Amino acid sequence: MSSSNQRFDVLVIGGGPAGMAAAARAAESGAQVGIVDDNLALGGQIWRGGEHVAEALPWRERLQRPGVSLLCGMRVFHQPQAGVLLAEGNEDVSELRYRKLILATGARERFLPFPGWTLPNVMGAGGLQAMVKSGLLIRGKRVVVAGSGPLLLAVAAYLREQGAEIRLVCEQAPWSRLTKFAAALAGFPAKIRQAFTLRKKLPGVHFTANSWPVAASGKGKLEFVTVSRGGLLETIACDYLACGFHLVPNVELPLLLGCAMDGEFVQVDDFQRTTKTGVFCAGEPTGIGGVELALVEGQIAGLAACGKEPEARELFGQRRKARRFAHLLEKTFRLRPELRNLPQPETLVCRCEDVAYKRLRQHTSWRRAKLHTRCGMGSCQGRVCGPAVHFLLNWKPESVRPPVFPVRVESLAGIAETG
Ligand SMILES: Cc1cc2nc3c(=O)[nH]c(=O)nc-3n(C[C@H](O)[C@H](O)[C@H](O)COP(=O)(O)OP(=O)(O)OC[C@H]3O[C@@H](n4cnc5c(N)ncnc54)[C@H](O)[C@@H]3O)c2cc1C
Repeated sequence: MSSSNQRFDVLVIGGGPAGMAAAARAAESGAQVGIVDDNLALGGQIWRGGEHVAEALPWRERLQRPGVSLLCGMRVFHQPQAGVLLAEGNEDVSELRYRKLILATGARERFLPFPGWTLPNVMGAGGLQAMVKSGLLIRGKRVVVAGSGPLLLAVAAYLREQGAEIRLVCEQAPWSRLTKFAAALAGFPAKIRQAFTLRKKLPGVHFTANSWPVAASGKGKLEFVTVSRGGLLETIACDYLACGFHLVPNVELPLLLGCAMDGEFVQVDDFQRTTKTGVFCAGEPTGIGGVELALVEGQIAGLAACGKEPEARELFGQRRKARRFAHLLEKTFRLRPELRNLPQPETLVCRCEDVAYKRLRQHTSWRRAKLHTRCGMGSCQGRVCGPAVHFLLNWKPESVRPPVFPVRVESLAGIAETG
């Protein structure tokens, strides 16, 4: 293993809005800052592939200054000792030393298993969007967008702009909750503008609540999706199903470092400090709340990590408002219990290790199921099946071990060599 060794006053893990804002504020406070992201460019999920996205530009510019090291294409996978993290790049492993650490690792989509969900062309909603941003041609393709959360409309609008035919957008939440959500948006004018802009990009596209996919079928790849639409089954011919049930936080690294949790999120105080001394957390790992919340939490963490509590305190009001939106999202897009009936006995829940639902049901905990079936032990390390199993069976992963991401054998061997 070749390796490099770098030291920072403040090290930020995650180059999405939260991480960029944290790094910018810390650097402007005079700290030597490193910002690590596993993608080839900063931007995270929302600004992915958009080097010229208008909202991202000011943050990119603020990071173009001496004292900031952009460490893209590197994934943090291990903490060999306090104050040191290991990150794997294309060719080597870097040892990153820090005085203060800010975790801004974002969120991922939640997938729920249903018959046919492993067919080619059944994809995560954000996943399909990311592939199109990376060059997948979607023009003329028929797409059903389904699941839950505001991401569905954002994805549908983006795919439509790229020339896709959106056959239907299915939201599992009931109309009653969506109506309350719309009324509550009155307190968030920017969100209303966003919602109108998205809706304008989707003329003629049908949006339906109380609806979710129950089966995907086709010969060798997706051809049809059957949805439960307001209680009636409807089968729709399509080329892609873009499906995600809202988001779950990426908390594997905070857990590895020993940060305490508050439910499924990382516990933080007013200054975004976790329960581990010198470790801060910002953005989606502390609550799913959208880009505004990520940006303000990132700034607070960056300032507080540099001892600038009074400046950080000035942003508390902005954060309070953004958190109200996060609560609204949580209430509106909570998953309905009927979705627990989606998998059939033969449906694969762990697609890495081919574990069917009926095999999981023979066990009583995540640990026992893991030991007997290898569920969650494949290449995604439980990132896909873990949240599904949590929702379906209320089992939680009991421990997180390094490496938090699959790494090359060479990188593991290197750790063993250096102790
Ligand atoms: C798939 C997906 C698509 C989305 N698309 C949209 C959209 O179109 N519009 C919208 O309004 N919102 C979208 N969102 C929501 C949006 O991500 C949030 O609202 C907000 O921007 C989150 O900011 P963040 O900085 O907390 O996290 P993110 O933007 O998720 O950034 C976190 C970054 O950390 C990196 N990372 C995580 N762990 C490590 C590690 N160990 N080592 C190195 N890097 C690491 C991740 O790859 C990611 O780049 C999307 C979310 C997801 C999951």
